[in-house]
Amino acid sequence: MAKLIFRYGAMGSSKTANALMVRYNYQEKNKKVALLKPRCEDRDGERMIKSRIGLAEPCEYAEDFLESYNGEHYDAVIVDEAQFLSPEMIDRLSDLADIYGITVICYGIRTDFRTQLFPGAKRLMELADDIEQIKTICWCGKRAHFNARLQDGEMVTEGEQVQLGGNESYTALCRRHYKERLVADPEG
Ligand SMILES: [Zn+2]
Repeated sequence: MAKLIFRYGAMGSSKTANALMVRYNYQEKNKKVALLKPRCEDRDGERMIKSRIGLAEPCEYAEDFLESYNGEHYDAVIVDEAQFLSPEMIDRLSDLADIYGITVICYGIRTDFRTQLFPGAKRLMELADDIEQIKTICWCGKRAHFNARLQDGEMVTEGEQVQLGGNESYTALCRRHYKERLVADPEG
């Protein structure tokens, strides 16, 4: 049985590098893989997926792929930044597994900078066969589950879920340091 898999991790957990490596492994074995990202995700440029460690690959927009999909064979579909997809698109990805027997691996962030689930991540939590965490750590060494949004170096907890064209950045924190709004070691 083909599966729908959700691999989630906080900012900086190497999700994209992981996605690109999994794709490479499939291709090495002459498997056919589609690499997708949401249309709204254009930080890396159009139809490109780039990881922080320098890996980069061309991709397709998930919405276009699902719109034009007509049953051709794929061994796997790999989706980066899947939290930005609509719940309807996640349902269509689950159809790829159930109707067409394609393994679908979605990489994404579980919650936004206010600790609320992204709609796409929520639907993945509801539908996925396997839910796996890609681990990363807070500056204190504890597991980091939360994404703090920084504006001019200060943590903010209000604003739009997706900020377009902003100059904000993100850092992954453990729950305690998210609550304390401590984004770096005060000793360091
Ligand atoms: Zn911490």
